[in-house]
Formats: sequence, C-alpha cells, structure tokens
Amino acid sequence: MDIYNEDGFSIARMRIEESDNNYNYIVWCNKTKECAVIDPIDPISILNFIRDNGLMVKYVINTHCHPDHISGNDPILKVSLSLISKALVHPLGVELIGTRYETVEEGDTISVGDIEIKVIHTPGHCPEHISLIVGNNIFVGDTVFVGGCGNIKHRGVVEDLYKSLSKVRELPDDYRMFVGHDYAETNLKFALDLDPNNEAAKTKLDEIEEAISEGKDIPPSTLGEEKKYNPFMRYDVSEVVDELKGRNPELKSDPGSVFKELRELRDDWTS
Ligand SMILES: [Zn+2]
Repeated sequence: MDIYNEDGFSIARMRIEESDNNYNYIVWCNKTKECAVIDPIDPISILNFIRDNGLMVKYVINTHCHPDHISGNDPILKVSLSLISKALVHPLGVELIGTRYETVEEGDTISVGDIEIKVIHTPGHCPEHISLIVGNNIFVGDTVFVGGCGNIKHRGVVEDLYKSLSKVRELPDDYRMFVGHDYAETNLKFALDLDPNNEAAKTKLDEIEEAISEGKDIPPSTLGEEKKYNPFMRYDVSEVVDELKGRNPELKSDPGSVFKELRELRDDWTS
C-alpha cells in the first residue's frame, strides 16, 4: 500500500493481487477525517485501514459496476458507523448495485469533509463509467490504464471509449492518474510493438520492470506521460497511424477508426 499526501487531503492506494491486480483507494480529508472509498474489492483491508487511521466512511464511490469494482460495497456500508454513508454511482449503473445508493453524473461535485471531488462521465468500458478528479489527481477506473485502456468485452462500446479517451486527453498533463488495475507491463510491451522507437515507452517500461524486480508497486503515471506513450491517446500520431495502415492497408485514417483498430489488436495481442 502507498499513501499520497496532498494539500488538505490524502490518498491510500492498495493493490489487490489475488483479484486481477485491482487497485482500491481511500481518499480522506485530513481535517475532518471523512473519507471516500473508491471501487472496493477487499473490504477487510479497507476497514482495517479506516479503523487504524480513525476515518469515517461518507461514501463508497464506484467508477463502474463490474463485479470486481463493487463487491466490497455492502460489507463497508454495513459496518460503517455513519448512517448517512452511501454508495455513489452513475444512473446507468443503479440496477447493478445493492442498497443505499445515490446517483452522480457529469459535472457533479461530491463533498467529503473539505474535499471536493468532481465527476466526469467516461463511458465506453461500460455505459455507467465515471472518472473522479480531486486536486491534480484523476481516478480513471477502467477507462485508461498505464499504457492502455479498458476493454469493451462486458457492455462496452468502442465509439464511446474513443470519445472518453479523447476527453481525458484534453485534461492537464500534470494530473496524476490512478487506475483500476495494474496491467502496465503488458500494455507497454504492446505500445512498443506498435511504436518501437518510442523513448517514453522504453523509459516507462524500464521503470516498471525495475519496480517489479524490487517487489514494489509501480508508481502512478501522469496524463502528460500517457500522452507520450499510450497508443490509445496517440490515435492521431503519424507513427501509430502509419504502423497500423502498414498492417492493414484498408484501414481508414480517421481517429475513431484507428482507435477501434488499436482496441482490436490489443484484444488479440500476447507478448
Ligand atoms: Zn471493469
């Protein structure tokens, strides 16, 4: 687990290896000790952390409603001391989660103590997917990964995913990106298979392999870094487009078609 101390708030990140390298997050206001839990799959570790640090759960926030992002909701809400604690989810996901929820949509702000968490709708991996912005941090769930993006195998729509990646790409470079799973190593190998001379991808892969060899969790990236090596944010860069057109001469060059081709190639790719 690692902790990130920001101005007035803190973030804990836990990687849950036994699932699918899911990340669970706790964000709390340093002054009031109110917290939000994001995408819980390991309620015991989360509840232990909350107890040890004297935190109070105000919300569980689900970036989306795939089972590995919501399974910890009820255990956390049941033992929470606060009767007002609830799950927050996009309206398109309400049928998939249990009790005690409220809905949040694009442009909403969630207050946790003195923290303001901004909601943006980023569908594509699934229709109800939201991302959360807190200070210079963005929680992107399964919309973007280090070097990659979410798949569209479970209620996904590739055209929506393309629009969401385009939307995230417009955000500031200095945003630190917290993702839903660690798939960085395979993603960066795929990125380098398409774009072998990409120095930023090589540097990032070296950094990640070093962390893995030392038994450490990989550090979060920034949106600025992703824009340099993540093919799903580089659907209009000549190196990527030319490579894909070389592989498939029928491919249209518009960004949406390139993005769709990238997603299909990644689905079939093994290192
Ligand atoms: Zn998912």
